[in-house]
Amino acid sequence: MPVLIVGSIALDDIKTQLAEHKNLLGGSASYGAVSASNFSPVNLVGIVGEDFPQEHIELFRRRGIDLGGLQIVPGETFRWSGEYMWDMNVRETRSVELNVFEHFTPTLPDGYHATPIVLLANIAPDLQHHVLNQVSQPRFVIADTMDLWINIAKESLEKLVARVDMLILNDGEARQFTGETSLIKAGKKIRAMGPQFVAIKKGEHGCLLFGPEAKYFSCPAYPLEDIHDPTGAGDSFAGGLAGYLASTVKDGEVTFEHLKKAVVYGSVLASYNVEAFSLERLKTVDSAQIDSRYDLFRHIAHFEGL
Ligand code: AMP
Repeated sequence: MPVLIVGSIALDDIKTQLAEHKNLLGGSASYGAVSASNFSPVNLVGIVGEDFPQEHIELFRRRGIDLGGLQIVPGETFRWSGEYMWDMNVRETRSVELNVFEHFTPTLPDGYHATPIVLLANIAPDLQHHVLNQVSQPRFVIADTMDLWINIAKESLEKLVARVDMLILNDGEARQFTGETSLIKAGKKIRAMGPQFVAIKKGEHGCLLFGPEAKYFSCPAYPLEDIHDPTGAGDSFAGGLAGYLASTVKDGEVTFEHLKKAVVYGSVLASYNVEAFSLERLKTVDSAQIDSRYDLFRHIAHFEGL
C-alpha cells in the first residue's frame, strides 16, 4: 500500500554546540518520505523553488518516491535555520523564510486521491485540511504538528485533529495544546477531541502511545551514544510509522498492537536519522539494518510479543 505524504521541503542551516552546516536538505516531508520509503511506495506532495538542488530530487527518485505531487516553481525554496543547545532536546529557531511556501496550494495529481495511508506532516493546518479534502476514503490518516500552529492556527488545528485517526506531537506541544502539565491527561484529552490514537514524543526519552479503552504503551528511545543532529527526528519517526503501517495493514483494522510495532519502527528510523546531519544517515540505511536494530531494540527494552 502506498502512503501519501504532504509537508515542507526545505533548505536548512543547522548549528549544534559542536558543528555547523548550511544549505542542508530538510523539511518535514523530506524526512518523512525518505523514512517511509524503507517500507512502502510514497506519493510526495510539496513545493520547492527553482534553486532546489537536483541532487535532492535524485535522492527522492532513488528511494522510489513518486514526485507527481512535487511543484517546482519560480522563486526560492523554504528556508529554516535552528540552533541546538548542549541539551539537544532544546532548540531555538534562528530564522524562517517562507519563500515559495507562502503561496503553496497542495493539489493532488491523478492517482493520489485514493492513497490509503495519509501522513499530514508538519505544515500549516489549513494546508493539511486542503489535502484531506482531496483524498477519498483513506484507511488511516496521521497528522503531525508544531508549536507555531498551536500559537497561530489553533482553531484550524482543533478541527483537523477531529478529522484524523492519529495525532503525533511532542511533549511541549501536547502541554501547550491541552493546557495540561500531565502528559497522560494531555494524551487522553487529545483522544477525546477525535483521534483514536495519540503519540506524544519525548525526544531522547522516547514516546507515549495512547489508544482506545485506555490502552497505553510507553516506548523508550533507542539508546544512542552519538547524536549529531536531532533535526527531523520527529518527521522520520512519523514517516517510519506511516510506512510500516502501509506495508503491513492489509484488510483488517489498524489495531493498538499494530501501532505499538509501528511506534518501535518509527523510533528505529528516528535513531538512524539523528546519527548525522540532515538526511545523510537516513538516506543510506537499508532494511537489513532497520530489522537488525529493531531486534536489538526489542531485546534491550524487553518488549514482549513484538
Ligand atoms: P523537526 O526536527 O521534526 O521539528 O523538523 C525539522 C524540520 O522542520 C526542518 O527540516 C525544517 O525545515 C522544518 N520546519 C521548520 N519550521 C517549519 C514550519 N513552520 N513548517 C514546516 N516545516 C518546518
